[in-house]
Amino acid sequence: MIQLYIPLGFLGVLYREIKQSLTDLDKMFVLLEKEREIADAPGATDLRLEGPPTVRFEDVRFSYEPAREILHGISFEIPAGKTVAVVGPSGSGKSTLARLLYRFYDVNQGRITVDGQDVRQVTQSSVRQAIGIVPQDTVLFNDSIEYNILYGRPDAGHDAAVQAAQAAHIHDFISRLPQGYATTVGERGLKLSGGEKQRVAIARTLLKNPPIVIFDEATSALDSANERAIQGELKTAARNKTSLVIAHRLSTVVDAHEIIVLEHGHIVERGRHAELVARGGVYAGMWALQQSGADGAGDRLGNGVA
Ligand code: ATP
Repeated sequence: MIQLYIPLGFLGVLYREIKQSLTDLDKMFVLLEKEREIADAPGATDLRLEGPPTVRFEDVRFSYEPAREILHGISFEIPAGKTVAVVGPSGSGKSTLARLLYRFYDVNQGRITVDGQDVRQVTQSSVRQAIGIVPQDTVLFNDSIEYNILYGRPDAGHDAAVQAAQAAHIHDFISRLPQGYATTVGERGLKLSGGEKQRVAIARTLLKNPPIVIFDEATSALDSANERAIQGELKTAARNKTSLVIAHRLSTVVDAHEIIVLEHGHIVERGRHAELVARGGVYAGMWALQQSGADGAGDRLGNGVA
């Protein structure tokens, strides 16, 4: 029995190892595929920026598959250094806006410009260099937590990693780990909670210090103390940056320069928080639902629900 058990246990470990390598490979192929899809225009030059830029979506149409258009003519502007928040039901196209800005895909019609420069006409690497993303679910590498924080700027060094971790309020947590910044995290190391992973992503972004940031807020429930803390850290990371926030929570939205309400790839409402609440439309409905806590998410926007 024991003899049988040991090989099985070993096989389990081996299986997990292989599965993880396959997952990593999968991710690599997905990335390579994307690189092939999106090529630099002949003679493309680097994006030229002086401080946080103005980002414009001009009548953007996009479909992943020809038969099904996802965005049907979206126009909005994020003025230099301001925050625009996008809210709307699941599947309405919010994350697609972020993917297009990061140039994972190209628009089918219309254009996206950064300080007047069409993202298709400049080098893809310079666009990505200018953008920091705090995704919904941060992928951590099977490496030290320091490596994971330094990922955006590997040569920044230990002191810079500590500084970023302090600003993202994850330094105390890391310091309490027996191996501190050398602790291995990720699938094969210490598993971090959703909130901790988002803090690592915020620390990465702070360190990279890009002029544009995209926050794709986690839909997964965080406890409210954690949620409020993350909001504060996001604000720190967005200071003096042009920010696009895919918002699921009120605190980010309330202060936004403009809130875009997306439904089925159309902008159905837009404006500042107070204006939209006063209008008594879709946004006001979401707000009321959240205030009552009836969406089961406390102070989250009811946009995780289709
Ligand atoms: P959520 O709030 O759930 O994150 P969302 O508003 O961000 O949703 P998107 O992720 O932008 O929605 O997706 C918009 C639509 O595009 C959805 O109907 C989705 O099924 C579709 N879609 C997303 N990614 C792909 C893809 N790679 N290929 C085909 N269709 C896709």
